Amino acid sequence: MEFRRLGRSGLVISEIAYGNWITHGAQIDEEAAHACVRAALDAGITTFDTADVYSETRAETVLGKALAGQRREGLVLSTKVCHPVGPGPNDRGLSRKHVIEGCEASLRRLGTDYVDVYYAHRYDPAVPLEETMLAFADLVRSGKVLYVGVSEWTAEQISRAAGLARELRVPLVASQPQYSMLWRVIDSQVVPACEREGLGQVVWSPLAQGILSGKYLPGTAAPSDSRAGTEAGKGFVDMLVGHWMKDEGALRAVQELGPVASDLGLTMSQLAIAWVLQNPSVSAAIIGASRPEQVKENAAASGVRLEQAVLDRIDEILSAYIVRDPARTG
Ligand code: NDP
Repeated sequence: MEFRRLGRSGLVISEIAYGNWITHGAQIDEEAAHACVRAALDAGITTFDTADVYSETRAETVLGKALAGQRREGLVLSTKVCHPVGPGPNDRGLSRKHVIEGCEASLRRLGTDYVDVYYAHRYDPAVPLEETMLAFADLVRSGKVLYVGVSEWTAEQISRAAGLARELRVPLVASQPQYSMLWRVIDSQVVPACEREGLGQVVWSPLAQGILSGKYLPGTAAPSDSRAGTEAGKGFVDMLVGHWMKDEGALRAVQELGPVASDLGLTMSQLAIAWVLQNPSVSAAIIGASRPEQVKENAAASGVRLEQAVLDRIDEILSAYIVRDPARTG
């Protein structure tokens, strides 16, 4: 496993992180969840990502239990706040009340005294940004949060937050956007803004939820043991990557990546993860997995270098299906 600094901060993270969205507390049972975490640790992954909202808060509890007994200093744990986690009007969003109460609840579920990176899961237009950033500043001052990040914020929102972060001395160091060979909306605006402000990209769904593994074949039903084929996962697949899943041309183009990967001695999943890691603005790729073999396979993408000719060939194959519009952020 290779390691990178998170943006311009001093924090060192594994360039492949393990995330438990959809899987822990929903798609897979606790034993399988623990086996995936064990496989991640065995592969040298130190960096784990979750959120309060995943599986209605169960994902944090599962991850906390799976990591119990590990040396806390050897781990980098991140979680997030913003999406609704309860019925009340203050059980969501980025108000001072919810950011602080949300953090306390996450710490209890994770069984830890602090999180390394605490993310605003989305931008909250209903709350003054000053209020949110002051709440993050107070969490940092109290030692419950070490670094702060934002997820799916636009370049303009990130720049404003960075100005406040400087004033309030908040270590705002991470941006967590969707990024893959197929989804490149951060390239034109978010990445330049983050480079200016010192935030690293910790990117999600590098496999486009499994599409780039090549297992979803055109004209064929999704395998019953895959995310798109299970109750827990198919709603999220439809919502976020449904346009490619329903497009036989896109699925056919993805199949053409198979020989590109095998010529390099890689699997298609490894090629897709290596692709996001070629971008120097990326501090880590967060992988999901429903079984330990996937973690082992995907973690082996660390350290792979792709030649320009390979990157050009990938662009040529996928060109009709790549989404680049920065307005799709968030
Ligand atoms: P991926 O794009 O890596 O998709 C992971 C899924 O693909 C797995 O669960 C598995 O699903 C399938 N898969 C993985 N490896 C292989 C393989 N080698 N062969 C075949 N299939 C494979 O990432 P996720 O979409 O899971 O996102 C990763 C993490 O990013 C999340 O856990 C979360 O931490 C974070 N995230 C953050 C968001 C945000 O808003 N900030 C939003 C979404 C995710 P299966 O076996 O079930 O088909």
